[in-house]
Amino acid sequence: MKLSEFDIDFNKFKNEKDTFRFKLTDAFFELKENSLYQHGDFDVEIQCEKFEDTIVLDYSLIGHIKSQCERCLNQIKIHINTSRQDVLKLTLDNNLLNEENYLSVNHPVYAVYDSIYEQICLDIPTRLICENSEIQKNCTIEHLDSNKTDKEADERWAELKKLIK
Ligand SMILES: [Zn+2]
Repeated sequence: MKLSEFDIDFNKFKNEKDTFRFKLTDAFFELKENSLYQHGDFDVEIQCEKFEDTIVLDYSLIGHIKSQCERCLNQIKIHINTSRQDVLKLTLDNNLLNEENYLSVNHPVYAVYDSIYEQICLDIPTRLICENSEIQKNCTIEHLDSNKTDKEADERWAELKKLIK
């Protein structure tokens, strides 16, 4: 998988509308330096519509990322089903071309990689834990502190029992 595979050349448009499909695997995330996520599978569909001086891209992303639960370290899957819209303006003004969402009339090529990556990141819950994954279960960490509090509670309970007697 190469970054250039995510460049859409609007010169090649046959009609005003066209649909592009991408199948993302782990290789997609490898293209990103310091990617927040490494494993995932997604089906991405982008419906593009070209108007006189704008291009509208409607993204639909369905899939999941695979990660490790931050709490219990089990492997988890997080499903994502999301959409996004980018509106691009076509221009001949070189100053505007330095800004986001402007495309050159003479070279209308747009890289959708970052939009796809960004949208996936936006839809991933802040905490990668079992609760937020497909199993939707609460998980716990087994550590010394929880044993200690249990013991403390038992002791307090024992004291209370003494008082009742
Ligand atoms: Zn967990």
